[in-house]
This record gives sequence, C-alpha cells and structure tokens, in this order.
Amino acid sequence: MLDAPNLSTFSLPSTHSDGPLQIGITTSGKGCKLATRIRREVAALLPPNFGSAVERLGTIRRRIWEEDHRAQHLEDEDDDVAAQKPTFNQLISESDQTAAKTRRIRWLSQICEYWPLRNLASITDADIDGILQSYSISSQPSPITHIDAPPLDISTLSLRARPTPRIILAGSGPGSPALLTLATHRAILTATVILADKLVPAPILDLIPRRTPLHIARKFPGNAEAAQQELLTLGLSALQKGETVLRLKQGDPYIYGRGSEEYSWFEERGYKPVVLPGITSALSAPLFAKVPCTSRGVSDTVVICTGTGRKGKAPEPPEFGEGKTVVFLMALHRVGELVDSLVDPPEDRKGCAWPKETPCAVVERASCSDQRVIRSTLEFVVTAVENEGSRPPGLLVLGKACEVLKGRGGARWVVEEGCDGFEGLDDALGLHSGGGEMREMAAERENASAM
Ligand code: SAH
Repeated sequence: MLDAPNLSTFSLPSTHSDGPLQIGITTSGKGCKLATRIRREVAALLPPNFGSAVERLGTIRRRIWEEDHRAQHLEDEDDDVAAQKPTFNQLISESDQTAAKTRRIRWLSQICEYWPLRNLASITDADIDGILQSYSISSQPSPITHIDAPPLDISTLSLRARPTPRIILAGSGPGSPALLTLATHRAILTATVILADKLVPAPILDLIPRRTPLHIARKFPGNAEAAQQELLTLGLSALQKGETVLRLKQGDPYIYGRGSEEYSWFEERGYKPVVLPGITSALSAPLFAKVPCTSRGVSDTVVICTGTGRKGKAPEPPEFGEGKTVVFLMALHRVGELVDSLVDPPEDRKGCAWPKETPCAVVERASCSDQRVIRSTLEFVVTAVENEGSRPPGLLVLGKACEVLKGRGGARWVVEEGCDGFEGLDDALGLHSGGGEMREMAAERENASAM
C-alpha cells in the first residue's frame, strides 16, 4: 500500500498522542520515515505535557459554554471554528451588553489564539475556578454578565509566567571555556542558581552573570561527604522555590563525578535532572598532550581508571596490554605507589606487570593556559614528579600511544609548558567575560562560599 499509493485512498498517519491531543502526520505515501520525523519535530515544539493543558482548556470551554447557554440561551459563539470570523478582533465597548454575554467564550478564543503555548500550558485548575467565579453569570433576573472583577485579559489569571523548577546536571569540560558545549554555556547564562564543583576553573565561573548566585563545593580532604551533601541540600531548597538550578561539574558529569548519584538523589525527590555531557579530561588531556588514545597499529584500547578508590583505598591497576592506553584520574598524589603496583605487582598478578620502559605522560591543567606535560617512562616518572612538583588537576596517561606523535629525544623526562595554539580561542568565540573585575568577583564568591 505504501509503495503504491495510487492504488489506495487509505494511509496510516504517524501519530503523536498526549491525552486528548492527537497529532497525525501523513505524507500521502511519500515516505513513512519522513512522516515520523516530521511528527517528532512537530511534537517537540510543544511544551511538555501539553495534553493536560488541552484537557484543562477543554474543561473551561465546556463550563463556559454550559453556563452561558443555561443562563441565556445564547447562539453558538465563534469558539470552535478554525478560521476566524471577521468579528474576531472587533472592538467591543465595556457598555455593550450583548457582547458582555459572550465575553468569557470570546476571552477563551483570544487566549487560544494569542497566548504563548507555554502560558497556556501553565493554566491550573485553580486558575479555571478563579476565572469562572470572577466572571460568573447571573441566571436571573436579567441575562446580563456580572463583572465584579478586573477586565478579562492575560493578567487577570494567576498566569504570571510561573517558574518551573528545573535541575540541569552539566559538565563544564576540562578547563577552557572554549570547550564548553553550547548547551552548558546556555545553561550557565540562564540558570537562576549555580552549584559548582571546586574543580570548575575560574575562566568558566567568570561566564556566570553577576546576578546569579553561585555556590562552590567546600570540598577538602576529609570533608568530601559533607560538602557533597551541602550542595545537594542547597540544590533541593532552590528547586522547591522554583529556581532553575545548574549543577556544574568538571569534565563530564558521569566520569568520576558522582553524577549518577546526584541524578538519583534529585530524581528520588521528584526533580528529574536534565543531564548535559561535558568533554572529559580523561580523553581530552591526552589529546592536548599530543597523545592519541588510539592509533592504528599502536593502541586499540583505552582504559579510564581512578588512582583513588572508595574510602581512599587503591584500586587494583589494569593489567599490561601491548595495545592498551590507560588514563589514571585522581592518581598523581600517590603516583609512586601506583607505579610500583604497575611494574611490580604482587606474586599472584606477576603476569600483569607493565614493563618499566612503557612511555607515559603526566598532563596537568589540560586546556588551560598553564597546562604542563611531563613526558617520561614508568621508570622515571616518579622522580620527574618529585623534581617538578605538581600543578593540579592532573592525570597520568600510560602506553605506547604516548610516543606516537612526540618523543623525549632520549631524556629521562621532558617538560612542556602551555597549551599550543589553543589560547585565544576563547576570545575568538566571544567567551571572555570581560576581565579582571569578573574574575575577582569569582574569587570573592569562592572565598565567601568557602567560609
Ligand atoms: N568528571 C571529570 C573528572 C573528575 S575526577 C572529567 O570528566 O574530567 C577529577 C580528576 O580529573 C582530577 O584528579 C584529574 O585527574 C582529572 N582532571 C580534571 N581536569 C583536568 C585537567 N584540566 N587536566 C588534567 N587532568 C584533569
């Protein structure tokens, strides 16, 4: 039938159903996938759960119609015709008593025509009762509308654009604002409360508009749980006030960011977060250090792991693999211990040992102007870190991929400063906040929230 539409007058539309709201799309046999796509896009333009708004507006319409007819035996008004009558926007004076009889149904026609769908979607049962009571019709003795409330217009309903609480769980990328997604950037500009992780760098916090309250997690060793709980509680009370809360996390929210725990926490309390991905440092820091995590003929597997397990315990390191690239997050504070466990595992894991010649790189503050890379091997990396000191946050990347694009020229280690060719991109993208003042403010805010 679909392939021979000329033989049929029947075609199945692609449908969207939301309560009483039904949308059917047909391409008259020109392509059912296309019809499905159009249906999806049309449905996506509607506010969420618009079916319930349709239900409510239907209730208003029925009640007005019934009351008007009971009281006045009115002729049918122009409400349910799709095309507008020429009288639709006709000027009606306050004293026009004939017009007063149909005022409510005309008001309904007008709001259905002109109000943003978002406002229509936010009508509640209380609004309906309010409007019907305000404009009640006296059934006797004279069929005149009593108007004992202000005139009918958008402001008579409690239809202030009612704030809808919203929680967005977003990743801010590894550091440079240029690596924010457009979605997260937009969320930064539109949120009414922002809760940020301690690691989210200042240039990103600088993008937060002055008016937006910012709380930064007061995380320090030994206080992680309390700091996390404090942020969650702040988020919940903001949601209960109808705020748009942005929970801004470093990198990607689901890579060692406790993102899934936060998701469940808010969901259990009735607020399902929208989750926006971020560029994870696990994959971008190697890139900025010119380490291609996979490279044909050299490395075909990437493993992301943590150097710090639950309750500070060291997790079992991954076993050696010729074509493996391993990225260790949260590991540099115990790099000595980690390297020992890799090159010299316990007796029962001897087969898993990594050769000490394996190339590796310590990548710190990737994508930031003070990025630093230390290229070395498992044999010398610990001495290198002891000598060069640390510049957190940083990670360790391990495997032959570390030498595909750049070597050490025989040195035990080499240090490279800066993030090549990347600086200035923020300016080019218009992502700079406007300089010192804002940056100082971010610092002040950080101090204030750390007190
Ligand atoms: N969710 C984050 C990771 C959080 S765990 C992400 O996806 O990137 C924190 C660890 O990430 C740090 O200990 C460090 O190992 C790593 N890290 C974060 N930002 C970094 C950066 N700019 N450069 C290097 N490592 C970084």
